[in-house]
Amino acid sequence: MKFSQMFMPTTKETPSDATLPSHQFLVRGGFISQSGAGLYDFMPLGKIVLDKIRTIVKEEMDKTGANEMLCSFVTPQSFWDESGRSTTMGNELLRFKDRKNAQYVLSPTNEESVVNMIKNRITSYKNLPINLYHINLKFRDEARPRFGLMRGREFLMKDAYSFHATNEDLVREFHVMEEAYKKVYTRLGLEFRVVDADSGAIGGSGSKEFHVLANSGEDTIVVCPDCEYGANIEAAIRKPNKRESLETITLEKVETPNCKTIDEVSTFLNADSYYSMKAVIKKAIYEDREEVVLFFVRGTDELEETKACNAVGALDLEDASEEELVKAGLVAGYCGIVGLHENIQVVVDTELKDDNNLVCGANEENYHYKGVDLTSINGLEYKDLIAVKEGDICSCCGGKLEYTKGIEAGHIFQLGTKYSEAMDAKFLDENGKAQPFIMGCYGIGVSRLVAAVIEQNHDEKGCIWTKETAPFLVDVIVSSAKKEDELEAGLKIYEELKALGISTIIDDRKKERFGFKMGDFELIGFPYAVVVGKKLQDGLVEIIDRKTLEKEEVEIGKVAEILFNKIK
Ligand code: ATP
Ligand code: MG
Repeated sequence: MKFSQMFMPTTKETPSDATLPSHQFLVRGGFISQSGAGLYDFMPLGKIVLDKIRTIVKEEMDKTGANEMLCSFVTPQSFWDESGRSTTMGNELLRFKDRKNAQYVLSPTNEESVVNMIKNRITSYKNLPINLYHINLKFRDEARPRFGLMRGREFLMKDAYSFHATNEDLVREFHVMEEAYKKVYTRLGLEFRVVDADSGAIGGSGSKEFHVLANSGEDTIVVCPDCEYGANIEAAIRKPNKRESLETITLEKVETPNCKTIDEVSTFLNADSYYSMKAVIKKAIYEDREEVVLFFVRGTDELEETKACNAVGALDLEDASEEELVKAGLVAGYCGIVGLHENIQVVVDTELKDDNNLVCGANEENYHYKGVDLTSINGLEYKDLIAVKEGDICSCCGGKLEYTKGIEAGHIFQLGTKYSEAMDAKFLDENGKAQPFIMGCYGIGVSRLVAAVIEQNHDEKGCIWTKETAPFLVDVIVSSAKKEDELEAGLKIYEELKALGISTIIDDRKKERFGFKMGDFELIGFPYAVVVGKKLQDGLVEIIDRKTLEKEEVEIGKVAEILFNKIK
């Protein structure tokens, strides 16, 4: 490809809302163009990168025996009514009507479509298992589309759906997918981590996320430096932080004037905040109602919202307003487990179970209780609610857990029968009995990966593509293309490299100066440049490594071979 023939509108201007390097450099490098909120066009360079990633994903999926298909992007809302997701997905689901007033949805994912595809077509266990995938547009009307391709509203996803007769077979396929995903990210040249993930309302243990490690990642992941353990903070566990029990004392109400926080109360009572209960009040949002709920964690812990949300089976948790607190009979800063209104939903963190000498609010302004004995309170619901902290102990090996930041680039899930049951999709098992299909689903954020590669690989000048993702591996820069001999020498190198199977672009622009061409090379981020310039008379050209920006003078006759060896 020649620069002179390609539409690559690079620019020095950074979009005002672009905070992430990937967003800035993909726009400035002429890869993508924003057309609306969370909507991006892929310009030629961006399309090449997207296709490279897509090809790798397809190759690794095909190797596992999964079948590529293609679902329609527009789906009838009736599918979503059947599965129940027209309510649970809320505003993320973009709905519209056609000319006949029929209701449709832009697919945010395709469980329903695929169940509909196989329903009544696969009728026997003999035709199982099967794994169907496509690489297709998705639309989610995200509340806050941001960070360019990272969180768009329209984006490209590879999503696969597998169907099984038994749970063991689902687990087998889940592992096959995990291995295939690892190969994808490895081939892309990315540093990544496979972590345990939140399985949401669906429950079960089988959900793993694949995170590209990058400081800008939106997700906090908990990792153990001493073993393989890794989990999204939403699902991370630790070795319980259990200290010795104290002696049981009698329950006593004490005045704690103006002491609302754990610190204030502990200091005032000269007590260790470990032996206290922290109340966190939230408003749980359900399909049909809202309800104030009360979570208790140890004074030294913090509530993990996703865990809390799952614990009460809500769609979402929000902060409760002052008014709602009053209505629920709660006193902010003084909420406690003793003497609560009966109708209020309460969940206590598992690690508090059996504690017998705790401080907590007295549900009365300026008062707390001492000597709260949880063993004496019956019927309490205990769930894992805490956010694992750095330095907490790994439950697998005893190591000290650490935080790192990750970009969720993939998510695999053991779904079970949620969708097949809801949509009445069944097969006949070995005994001739009708059973709902057991399903798995597996997603990769293909367009998000374009951004993730750059989040992990850039410098202050621009993108640094990995070999497998680079739009072209080599940029032959002809310093002044107006000079016949330079252009000719450049074209010769360009042809040689292409003949060796190395994807190459030549900067043959006559109008642009050398400095501008170098700037484009650094901004766009091809892995190597060959500069044909002044030293041509001596038979020399320069190879530049984009990553290190190191320069190397080489004989013109050897440049192709040298690059071939670097790249292979
Ligand atoms: P997130 O937690 O980041 O919102 P998710 O858990 O909702 O993502 P999944 O439903 O698991 O996403 O979708 C599979 C993959 O699709 C994700 O792992 C991610 O890589 C990608 N993806 C999800 N939402 C977006 C988006 N808005 N823009 C780009 N890629 C996305
Ligand atoms: Mg996910």
